[in-house]
Amino acid sequence: MPEAKLSTDPMHTALKQYFGYDKFRDGQEAVITQLLAGNSAAAVFPTGGGKSLCYQLPSLMLDGLTLVVSPLIALMKDQIDALTARGIKAARLDSTLDANEYRQVMQELRDGSLRLLYVAPERFNNERFRNTIATVDIALFAVDEAHCISEWGHNFRPDYLKLVDFAKACGAQRVLALTATATKEVLNDICSVFNIAPDCAINTGFYRANLQLTATAVDDASRDSILLQKIKDLPLGPTIVYVTLQKTAQHVAELLAENGLQAKFYHAGLKEQQRTEVQDWFISSNTGIVVATIAFGMGIDKSNIRFVYHYNLPKSLENYSQEIGRAGRDGEVSQCHLLACTSDLIPLQNFIYGDTPDPGAIKKFVNTVFEQATEFDISLYEFSQKCDIRPLVLRTLLTQLELKKYLAGGTPFYANYQFKPLKTSQEILSGFNEQRAKFIGDIFRHSQKSKIWYQVDLDNTAAAMNTPREKLIAALDYLAEQSLLEVKVAGVRNRYTITKKPDSNDALAKELSDDALAREEREIARLQQCIDWVCLDACQTSALCARFDSPLEKDCGHCGWCERKSQVTLESQTALALSATVLQAVEELRSEHKQLLSSARTTTRVLCGLTSPQISKAGLMQHKLFGIAQATPFKIVFDQVADL
Ligand code: ADP
Repeated sequence: MPEAKLSTDPMHTALKQYFGYDKFRDGQEAVITQLLAGNSAAAVFPTGGGKSLCYQLPSLMLDGLTLVVSPLIALMKDQIDALTARGIKAARLDSTLDANEYRQVMQELRDGSLRLLYVAPERFNNERFRNTIATVDIALFAVDEAHCISEWGHNFRPDYLKLVDFAKACGAQRVLALTATATKEVLNDICSVFNIAPDCAINTGFYRANLQLTATAVDDASRDSILLQKIKDLPLGPTIVYVTLQKTAQHVAELLAENGLQAKFYHAGLKEQQRTEVQDWFISSNTGIVVATIAFGMGIDKSNIRFVYHYNLPKSLENYSQEIGRAGRDGEVSQCHLLACTSDLIPLQNFIYGDTPDPGAIKKFVNTVFEQATEFDISLYEFSQKCDIRPLVLRTLLTQLELKKYLAGGTPFYANYQFKPLKTSQEILSGFNEQRAKFIGDIFRHSQKSKIWYQVDLDNTAAAMNTPREKLIAALDYLAEQSLLEVKVAGVRNRYTITKKPDSNDALAKELSDDALAREEREIARLQQCIDWVCLDACQTSALCARFDSPLEKDCGHCGWCERKSQVTLESQTALALSATVLQAVEELRSEHKQLLSSARTTTRVLCGLTSPQISKAGLMQHKLFGIAQATPFKIVFDQVADL
């Protein structure tokens, strides 16, 4: 690397020239200096702390591509537009691109003109993408929301753990891990998997003096009026009200609107266009209130959000911190009110219980995996139906087998390649020399024509032509890029090799079940931490900062506790046990569905209104007992069912 790149001057020059800023924010210079010196680094900055600049600026100074992996790329359009406006070539690859846009990005990727490419982690499941990226020099591999790689984090995602291998496989020269919420354990995990030296992990601390945090005890009956009163008592300003369920978002927005406030609702169930409208309206408004599920706010660049309310309890203190982190990015005083209601606990706990598979289902999963040939491929959907495990949970289990070294994940592939010629085959072939024309002609000959599209069975064609699959894919991609064919892919299948068989399937299944139960326990404990934080008899800001490994030296002086010097008390919930009549009906249902409902856990799921692939297949969601115990804690129902 040329010497000049190591001095800080070009860094400041680029900061001014491309971004128009005079100085770095806390932590930025330290992170960028490490990256330019060739080291991997971690940036733990609060939301709004300016993490993106830590990869945007180096992307201009390093030779090679900066690949940004973010689960939020759908929301990164603004960031990419802003970069483009500054003359920096940046693009994203996602399913919203049409064939032409896709081709253009691929072209810019190959000719090296692209500085930054944004992709979602799922993009690495795309064989075509992986083939292309393998040929590109990756100067920097930036992983946003990096806490997702850690099981200790609040949002562990198995596909994130795989990024570690992808970064290695594509020969990334350095990695930058970014997050706003990392406890000590999470940051240790991040640094260990990405090989980041301790002094390259820059944590700027969690404390934001302009945020005033308070919690108020409410119950179902008083919650609406308390929210309304609080909003009315305070000056108007851009406001987000977070709720757990989509239907609550609509209810609360209507309530506020009926009371003369400018409120709209937002959740992932709205159409893309509606979501964009609400978002744009909020960004340009100085008094707008958005009532939203947690889908809202990620990636929204609005610095003057004055109020963040939590109408429902957050799932964890990590979630809470991220959500309140969206307030007051401009540094002005902003208020965050949490309305704490114990009746929120059960639905939130049920989300957690719903993700724990039944031990019987895990056994079936293990047996099914190890009955496969050494090399096998599966469709997650089919496997999920067969083992009665939700697809996302199944992915976690498969990843766990990879991490425990029983399986090695291969490149997922599309079972289904289709193409549509955009010119006659004569015109297509005439552009190639004899040998290549024969190769392409052979692919055409081996493909099945339906009305418009040709179907390519890659495995059979590869065998018949005695050539690797990858060569066929490369040829089809090339033809697509030259606008000679349009190519469509579908039916992703995950490929695995069994690298070791367990000594005992049952013991392995038990181990996985125990892992799942441990995860459940951790998540339940995280929820409890929210309650404990609400009721804390000490400075609440301080406690939150300590949780993220940046304790305050003295009390903040401006949180709810510091102002009152007394703690909040919450009503404890009285749980309703199932009546004898209901239990009788449960026994009858179990005798009708002997196999499915033989397990106490699956039966409890039905009663608590939680689904599984087999529960929906058996039509039990329409049964009168489905969800009958929605207001009772899962554990209590489970114990009653287990006693039957
Ligand atoms: P994060 O990803 O940490 O939440 P962003 O990267 O979105 O934060 O940055 C938040 C805001 O701060 C953006 O509007 C960005 O343009 C601005 N910003 C970043 N770095 C600087 C800087 N050095 N000086 C001034 N503004 C900055």
